[in-house]
Amino acid sequence: MRKLPPRFPSHHPSFRTRFINTAATALHQNLRTAVPSPPLGISSKAAEKDLIALIKSCTKKSHLPQIHTHLIRTSFLLNPTIFLHFLSRISLPSPLQNLPYGLKIFQNYAKPNISLYGTMIRAHSLAGNSAALLGFELYKEMLHLDISSDGLSSSFAIKCCVKMESWFSGLQVHSRILRDGCQCDSLLLTTLMDFYSLNGKCDEACKVFDEMSHRDTAAWNVLISCYIRNKRTRDALSVFDIMEKSKGRRPDDVSCLLVLEACAKLNALEFGERVRKYVKECGFDGSMKISNSLIAMYSRCGCVEKAYEIFESMGNKDVVTWSAMIGGLASNGHGEQAIRAFREMQRVGVAPDDQTCTAVLSGCSHSGLVNEGRMFFNVMRKELGIVPNLYHYGCMVDMTGRAGLLDEAYELICSMEVKPDAAMWRTLLGACRNYKHAALGEKVVEHLIELKAQEAGDYVLLLNIYSSISDWEKVSEVRKFMREKGIRTTPASSTIELKGKIHEFVADDVSHPRKKEIYDMLDEINMQLKIAGYVAEITAELHNTCAEEKRTTLSYHSEKLAIAFGILATAPGTKIRIAKDLRICLDCHNFAKTVSAVYNRQVVIRDRNRFHHFRDGRCSCNDYW
Ligand SMILES: [Zn+2]
Ligand SMILES: [Zn+2]
Repeated sequence: MRKLPPRFPSHHPSFRTRFINTAATALHQNLRTAVPSPPLGISSKAAEKDLIALIKSCTKKSHLPQIHTHLIRTSFLLNPTIFLHFLSRISLPSPLQNLPYGLKIFQNYAKPNISLYGTMIRAHSLAGNSAALLGFELYKEMLHLDISSDGLSSSFAIKCCVKMESWFSGLQVHSRILRDGCQCDSLLLTTLMDFYSLNGKCDEACKVFDEMSHRDTAAWNVLISCYIRNKRTRDALSVFDIMEKSKGRRPDDVSCLLVLEACAKLNALEFGERVRKYVKECGFDGSMKISNSLIAMYSRCGCVEKAYEIFESMGNKDVVTWSAMIGGLASNGHGEQAIRAFREMQRVGVAPDDQTCTAVLSGCSHSGLVNEGRMFFNVMRKELGIVPNLYHYGCMVDMTGRAGLLDEAYELICSMEVKPDAAMWRTLLGACRNYKHAALGEKVVEHLIELKAQEAGDYVLLLNIYSSISDWEKVSEVRKFMREKGIRTTPASSTIELKGKIHEFVADDVSHPRKKEIYDMLDEINMQLKIAGYVAEITAELHNTCAEEKRTTLSYHSEKLAIAFGILATAPGTKIRIAKDLRICLDCHNFAKTVSAVYNRQVVIRDRNRFHHFRDGRCSCNDYW
């Protein structure tokens, strides 16, 4: 850990050379000779006011050393109020900031007080990560000098701990807060909540929240973001509910932004619409940020028309707006429109950024537009000067892999300037599965093992490849390996929203209160589908067991349960929307297609990668996912 230099450093040669010709040297000498007492009289009060005004109005970096020299010459630097203003001007973020300079004069100041420490800790908490370390050292130094911490200094110290990613330091500050008794400071406690939330300690963050005597909107918002960050997204919606009903703390624009993000994640369209209504009522709908996140929410919920409606109604559109719209069109299977929107964006003079490029490339990939994708990839690099990142390469690998150009995809990964991550290899593995390319599939799994990133799902894909080419020997080999190593698949889950409430299902779920009705409904659907000619896709399963047994294993995948519940609980003709955390399997895809025809229902399933809009027995992905 970097240490602070001791206060009043000795005549260290490097210290002196660095500050030669600067006013700091003058100060250094001044302090070591006779220290005159700070001017006090009535006239000096007026002078003090003038000096503070001068410090505040200073706009040129080069003027600061001049002011500094003047303050030294007139001994006003020893006036704590003036010194605080001067120190803040130098240290806090502004075009005039020079933090090392600020730190030096602070280190040389004879009687630092809590406000001065607070300013310095704050300045360091706002600068880069290495500065945060120094900020925390300053906090410790302050306590060492027996200066009790206050709410501000502690909250800046916690911000330093967040930047340092030091869990232990944060705990130290928390225990000190308990000792020094600042538990009533809501800003401080909010910062503390954020610290726990960023460290994945959701329960601790909630505990701080519960113990707060006064909770402002900022505290509620930190609670929402804590739930979203720590995968308790459904709880984030409940917090919004409570806030909306409470008289005191109504949700503000930040709450709305956060909750819209939660709705997008959960595919919670009804709730999202409610937030939109609230946004309108409160007059937040003029905000570009809110509109952008409404576009994202609608797109993620599979309502690209409504997203487009908002997009069209916006007077000003920034690069985030365009990227959100292009991304929404792309993931919902409208690749051509995504490309058209990209061209329109360039025409009206909004410069695309790396996220816009990811959006348009993913559009090409989802719609199988290989030539266009290659063209945009080149335009991005050569004309827009954007260095391709993992996402861009991911789209290219996905696109070529889907089109069956597996060797091209493999070569692209091997030629990348950036190191491929597990997701990239997994994309290719999926393509190997689609095209039954066992040799390349094995190679890809080796790469994953090399990255120490292999997951149960990867072995399952490999199993799928072997079973699709009926290589049962290899299948049992991999199964044996998985058993021996204790590799288990995590069950996939599907969610469906009903009247603003999210219902979640895992495969063979028996936890739902209406489970009997759901399973009965599923049996009935299976019967109806059989009449319509649906046959369970047995290669989707792994085992080399008899066909009948395989059919039963397939029957209760989470999305099938969610579809059955949707048909059971909604009026005929209602669109069924489901979100699934993994990729949809071939059999469930066929199942959903047939349901859309037999029950005359639109079914929208968002899986890990894309949307499937099922209608009249067809899917928007053209069976290409
Ligand atoms: Zn399935
Ligand atoms: Zn599909």
